[in-house]
Amino acid sequence: MTDALRPRPSVNLDNGFIFEALNDGRLVIQKCDGCAELRHPPVPMCPSCHSLDWHGEEMSGRGTLFSYVVLHHPVVPPFRPGYVVALVELEEGARVVMPLEDVARDDIEIGMALSVAPERMDDELTLPVARVRAEVPA
Ligand SMILES: [Zn+2]
Repeated sequence: MTDALRPRPSVNLDNGFIFEALNDGRLVIQKCDGCAELRHPPVPMCPSCHSLDWHGEEMSGRGTLFSYVVLHHPVVPPFRPGYVVALVELEEGARVVMPLEDVARDDIEIGMALSVAPERMDDELTLPVARVRAEVPA
């Protein structure tokens, strides 16, 4: 039996740059060239200054847990019971939905420090994944 693949994201002209960057090992967010606002999910025109000019800004990979849900039902492969979906607030300010891995459910706290890095799910798909960020002693 082959392992089930994750559902494919709907890639289009507005968000394709994100998945291309993830495949290159980088996490990028759309940044307006007119007013420097970060936008996620990406859109063609800046809602703040109406500029059509933007670029993919590379993020630091540091963030905090803004919110999360734990999936219990239905359990569809390749997901496992207790799969955690996090809304991570990147330190640059954008919020991105992604899996939260390697943390016991009782240890999850809103505001906890997270590291975000692209991880290959299969031969064709790379997604950002959040893990607990180890505090570095000063
Ligand atoms: Zn703008």
